[in-house]
Amino acid sequence: MAAKRKGTPAVFLDRDGTINRQVGYCNHPSRLRLYRFTAAAIRKLNRKRIPVVVITNQSGVGRGYFPENALQETHERMTDLLGKSRARIDGIYYCPHAPAAGGEGCRCRKPGTGMIRKAARDLGLDLRRSYVVGDSPSDILMGKRAGTRTVLVLTGYGRGERDFRRAGWEVEPDHITRNLGTAVDWILADRDKRGITE
Ligand SMILES: [Mg+2]
Ligand SMILES: [Zn+2]
Repeated sequence: MAAKRKGTPAVFLDRDGTINRQVGYCNHPSRLRLYRFTAAAIRKLNRKRIPVVVITNQSGVGRGYFPENALQETHERMTDLLGKSRARIDGIYYCPHAPAAGGEGCRCRKPGTGMIRKAARDLGLDLRRSYVVGDSPSDILMGKRAGTRTVLVLTGYGRGERDFRRAGWEVEPDHITRNLGTAVDWILADRDKRGITE
């Protein structure tokens, strides 16, 4: 009998600085700019039927910088732009909360694992055989806590993090690479090495 599977292995993507340009608070849909390699990278995952899920902190909502419906419109725009290049995202999870000042925060904000665990439950995903890609230590820490492998990209905050703040990282990523395009190539090769074929 085949080993019991816990779900489908997936790839979780941070949004700002990973999929689209880091612009501080992306407080209007018109400010979203996809990187030129993003659609092709996601399409590669789509072709292999690997679920692609966006996990993003959007504390600008909780801080009152923009309303939640502007965030939803930004995500519609992202989905539309990707769709024009025949790339598809299987889910978007966001944390709209501001970080708590000293007190109890929400469970969803990265590096908390609330969003990624909810996505895994909703979509039937196996975190142990999944990957997280992001440009910040909070992405990497979330992925480690959730049991995934992790990739830091050098777009967005990534290059500065690697060059100036690495000594302070709580955990090292499994891999560091130029951008989402090269991250997906590494993930596909690493899945092959591990015998992940789903
Ligand atoms: Mg980011
Ligand atoms: Zn939250």
